[in-house]
Amino acid sequence: MTETTHTKPLMTPEAAEAAIDAQLPGLPIEARPLSQCVGGTLRENVYAERDYPPFDRVCMDGIAVASDSLRHGVRGYTVQATQAAGAPPLALESIENAIEVMTGASLPHGTDCVVPMEQYELAGNHVSLTQAVNDTPFRNVQRKGEDARRGALMLEGGTRLGAPEIAIAASAGLARVRISSQPAFMVISTGDELVEPGEAIAGHQVRRSNVYAVVAALRARGFDRVSNDHLRDDEAMLSGRLSLHLATHEALILSGGVSMGRFDLVPKVLKSLGVREVLHRVAQRPGKPMWFGVGPRGQAVFGLPGNPVSTLICLVRYVIPAIVTAMGTRPMPVERIALAQSVAFDLPLAYFLPVAVETDEWGQPWAHPRPTNTSGDFVSLIGTDGFVELPPGPMTYSKGFVANLYRW
Ligand code: AMP
Ligand code: MG
Repeated sequence: MTETTHTKPLMTPEAAEAAIDAQLPGLPIEARPLSQCVGGTLRENVYAERDYPPFDRVCMDGIAVASDSLRHGVRGYTVQATQAAGAPPLALESIENAIEVMTGASLPHGTDCVVPMEQYELAGNHVSLTQAVNDTPFRNVQRKGEDARRGALMLEGGTRLGAPEIAIAASAGLARVRISSQPAFMVISTGDELVEPGEAIAGHQVRRSNVYAVVAALRARGFDRVSNDHLRDDEAMLSGRLSLHLATHEALILSGGVSMGRFDLVPKVLKSLGVREVLHRVAQRPGKPMWFGVGPRGQAVFGLPGNPVSTLICLVRYVIPAIVTAMGTRPMPVERIALAQSVAFDLPLAYFLPVAVETDEWGQPWAHPRPTNTSGDFVSLIGTDGFVELPPGPMTYSKGFVANLYRW
């Protein structure tokens, strides 16, 4: 189709993004065992269960003494007992005594200083200091409450749970936390020409590669409820299967069938199934035919153009951010990057340009343009890291022009 077929002004990418976000309510919340929460979005606040550390904690293997004794010149001690981690604190019986302590132990009552093993010799139960010892009170001791106070806010709702956040939730004593449910995704390829990898293929046919790319991009971001299907350009088949998928999934991602050819039946069939069209066509290249609608139960339905470069770009630019927002995840800051060489573009459309990111000798990253021949040319994506979004042309974006970077 030519550029002039539609006279109605097209939506900009920002408007499309906002229109999608406005239609997607927050995804439901579920309480899950902590061991199953990595990668999830926290939907509650986590507060310190106790002071951290919860007691004056020894942080060296050595002996605990009263620092007063050091200041009074005592250089030898009788070892009264041993205090291991996990045992309730002992009490020092005399200022001439020391208590042997292990890292992680509770500081014994009556002591306020830990002398590390390297600074004394032990003969029987007698300790002799072998060097000058720092007598500052609470040396080699981590004070109770030094890291956080009981009741302090440790993790805020919206936080993505990585290993440190999981450790914090565990230390707050939580066996389960409330996180966003993952949507059940159905990734659907449409087209009579598509053939599964591994199956015999004729000269006029095309590999069904998009579904693999979409599923991979979702899985790489931690989504694991991802199924897929293939539908022919046949109204009855599309209608029957899409109605089934709408009943069982929260997000449908279709590729192909949204342009204006005779067999681009997806928008029509979706509408007949009660999916309300929110947008069709965006002022962008590639990916102009993109479609988005909302199903009767609030299902998100993305109709991505079938050309492989368009599919992947629309997925990364719109679908994944929309789902992340619907999960209540705090948005990641947008990555900005400068073009390594000038680029010209002559259409009044936002230009999504694939790039390879390379760092120069001063550690500065640059986006090296890797334009594709057409939006079907996924071969040019080899070695790329993502794409930049350039504002509508016609324009020459000079070397050093700074744009948003989206990584695959
Ligand atoms: P369509 O959007 O259906 O007009 O498809 C545009 C182009 O993308 C056609 O050349 C299709 O063969 C190709 N295409 C569509 N779906 C896929 C897919 N799942 N994998 C690879 N290529 C596809
Ligand atoms: Mg098609």
